[in-house]
Amino acid sequence: MPIQPLPDTLVNQIAAGEVVERPASVVKELVENALDAGAARIDIELEEGGVRLIRVRDDGGGIPADELPLAVARHATSKIASLEDLERVATLGFRGEALPSIASVSRFTLSSRVAGSGHGARLEVEGGKAAPVLPHPHPLGTTVEVRDLFYNVPARRRFLRAERTELGHIEDWLRSLALARPGVELRVSHNGRLSRHYRPVADAGERLRRLAEALGDDFTRQCLQIEHAASGLRLYGWVGLPTAARSSADQQFFYVNGRAVRDRTVAHAVRQAYADVLFHGRHPAFVLFLECDPRQVDVNVHPAKHEVRFREQRLVHEFIYRSLHEALAGARAGAVGGEPV
Ligand code: ADP
Ligand code: MG
Repeated sequence: MPIQPLPDTLVNQIAAGEVVERPASVVKELVENALDAGAARIDIELEEGGVRLIRVRDDGGGIPADELPLAVARHATSKIASLEDLERVATLGFRGEALPSIASVSRFTLSSRVAGSGHGARLEVEGGKAAPVLPHPHPLGTTVEVRDLFYNVPARRRFLRAERTELGHIEDWLRSLALARPGVELRVSHNGRLSRHYRPVADAGERLRRLAEALGDDFTRQCLQIEHAASGLRLYGWVGLPTAARSSADQQFFYVNGRAVRDRTVAHAVRQAYADVLFHGRHPAFVLFLECDPRQVDVNVHPAKHEVRFREQRLVHEFIYRSLHEALAGARAGAVGGEPV
């Protein structure tokens, strides 16, 4: 075969292989877009574990009608415009590839209205082919509808699991999000029934309520609140006492500048801090937020953005280890270092 450029839809479908693994990845991308748009309330409707339908509606800033085709165009984004922007990016998205990828492997509809516009507009894409933008009534904000995920990619469809399993992945991810964004109201329904409702939390004092809603009272009754800052880094959150340790690592939430990440440096520092207080084979429970200058951390490591790279890895490791070690040692001695909550 001669060398030839790939058709756009195929390029998007190839990218979808990295960004869209299963319904939960679609929910993640759509909800992150809603958060980037400043939404205070996000409604998520699912059918059949998200395979049949994922509908995400937000009350954020919306998309102007004439920009709808760009929203589903590859590498088009409103979030960065230069390398400088990329290096200090504060939004969850910036690659401009989630919507085109998702739209290339589903029956996709994007509806939106911005402030100052009398009516909304709507754009339909089926299997990557966009229809013309049409006027469509819509409240302020955006609704994205994704139907029949992978209907045109049988190889992917075969990897989807049972409805329960896919729903479980979605709920796990939403739990992680609910912990990070207590001020945002999240409603989730599955097959027409409300399955989760995280009510918005108004202030820091109420934050434990969201924590309990997401992780249960067992965690909130056996955790320490920590807060520690040094060398331009700040770590805060809740660490489970040894009595809250679990047989699996299912209650471990770590965020870097508001983004849930899996990172080996972090994992190692946490494990080391707990080493003295936990039995082998037990896993600590924690919800921790690390804040640092965005220029100190590269989030552009993988399309799905689960991973980050710290510029000063050793410093970060040491800081996390020390913060947790002190808090846990204090707890053991019954002294300060963290107030039991
Ligand atoms: P990215 O989030 O990386 O910019 P996406 O493909 O996810 O790329 O979205 C493309 C663009 O569409 C965004 O930059 C944003 O301008 C717009 N957009 C997508 N979803 C929403 C939403 N829910 N509300 C407002 N704008 C949105
Ligand atoms: Mg996005």
